[in-house]
Amino acid sequence: MIRADLHIHTKYSQDSSINPKTLVDQLFAHASVKAVAVTDHNTVEGYGKVQELANPFKDILIIPGVEITTPEGDLLVLGVAELPPQPWNVRDVIDFARRNGGVVIVAHPYREYGLGSLAKNYDVDAVEVLNGGTPSNLNRLAENLAREMRRPGVAGTDAHNVDELWTVSTEIQASLDLDEALCSMKKGLVKACPCSRSIHF
Ligand SMILES: [Zn+2]
Repeated sequence: MIRADLHIHTKYSQDSSINPKTLVDQLFAHASVKAVAVTDHNTVEGYGKVQELANPFKDILIIPGVEITTPEGDLLVLGVAELPPQPWNVRDVIDFARRNGGVVIVAHPYREYGLGSLAKNYDVDAVEVLNGGTPSNLNRLAENLAREMRRPGVAGTDAHNVDELWTVSTEIQASLDLDEALCSMKKGLVKACPCSRSIHF
């Protein structure tokens, strides 16, 4: 089993201040979270930089990702290190991810820029039921949505600054291997967990 944060913004997102090197250093030092998905807004540049810096380290995993803004709401695409072709609408982004072996997650469905109940119209892989930047009542609605859609629930901090890192994580029944982790997410072998930073650092 590994623990991963599936939703992190680096400074390659215009609204984030997280330095890729700080992220890699903290991930390496962390006692239990050993994988992160870099999900900058509409760019995979941040992932490229973090991956490059993480390369010399053997016991951490950087999952390629992006948070795509669509008119209906935000989608996280994991496992694909390139952007879908524009224009970005939910159905085409999902098709692109499928063709490229990626995983699609409905980001913070009930927060601003969330898909809300529209998510039910789409064949996504998982729902973000624990988003670090979302009030708990809205996370609970997301949990209900996942249950209704019979989709696994995952967690991500949605960190935009270093203080927001490591507050929640997703347990994935996989080893520290990208293909295995993506496969387990698709099979629903995941669990969203709040985790106390003080215990793990
Ligand atoms: Zn985000």
